[in-house]
Amino acid sequence: MRASDLLHPRPEGLYCPPGDFFIDPVRPVARALVTHGHSDHARAGHGTVLATRETLDIMALRYGDGFAGSTQAAVLGETIACGEASVRFHPAGHVLGSAQIAVEHKGLRIVASGDYKRRPDPTCLPFEVVACDVFITEATFGLPVFRHPSDGHEMARLLKSVAQFPERTHLVGAYALGKAQRVIRLLREAGHERPIYIHGAVAKLCDYYRSRNIDLGPLEPATAETGNRADFAGQIVVGPPAAFADRWARRFPDPVACFASGWMRIRQRARQRGVELPLIISDHSDWDELTDTIRDTGAGEVWVTHGREEALVRWCELEGIAARPLHLVGYEDEGD
Ligand SMILES: [Zn+2]
Repeated sequence: MRASDLLHPRPEGLYCPPGDFFIDPVRPVARALVTHGHSDHARAGHGTVLATRETLDIMALRYGDGFAGSTQAAVLGETIACGEASVRFHPAGHVLGSAQIAVEHKGLRIVASGDYKRRPDPTCLPFEVVACDVFITEATFGLPVFRHPSDGHEMARLLKSVAQFPERTHLVGAYALGKAQRVIRLLREAGHERPIYIHGAVAKLCDYYRSRNIDLGPLEPATAETGNRADFAGQIVVGPPAAFADRWARRFPDPVACFASGWMRIRQRARQRGVELPLIISDHSDWDELTDTIRDTGAGEVWVTHGREEALVRWCELEGIAARPLHLVGYEDEGD
């Protein structure tokens, strides 16, 4: 059978005819398989959703318990029959609960990686290489210019700035699912033991990560009632990037605007957003992680999606690997 008979794009998302399901559909469908909880991949309103326990929990936290007609929890590594196809979920290393989905039928295996990264993340299971015939890769940072520095290096820069400006508050913009918890955990591993103040929009997910035994240390709400402005001097506040543009941010003394994102590699982006201390911390693979992963899977064919498809397609061709862009619409990386 041809690979495109096993999975191909439709307006709703990536469709599997033998299994009659969609992967990460952007419109309501009867049967959805969901790779992870970011809002562009995990939407409410499907008939039934198959995803990891954590992804189902995160969807319920974000959309309420009735987010789907029914749900089924996928156990990592376990084969699940879906119509005539079979599927298996494997860790993707992107955020808590994130998974790649291996779809198999008549001896052909396609792995839809969803979003993924290769470097260690203390808040989720590491990416697992799954041998396959066709590998579907993201390409958010699919240009050779994107080479993320080590997390330790970026955390050291943040803590150095905190020590240097004890009278100012460091406001760290980090997406609510995954990045915020990872930044907090990395700060703990870097030896920062003081309470970290969090915006209300990240509180529920921080609680959930803690319930999954991820130790985030002491967290306090960063609300006006917490105390007066001076209490925040020398402290670190973590919140969604959007919150830092509104009035909420003005309560902090002489804030240092920080943003933890792979996009901070581009100075102009940091400047445009008024970011004083850009932190290059990404939940997506950089160029080397993407190309290493393509080689590691041994795939003879690669489909490239959301991001900079062209450069990665070209790289594959030069490596003698068949490749093409897979034009899926509706994904805008909530958690870069
Ligand atoms: Zn994501």
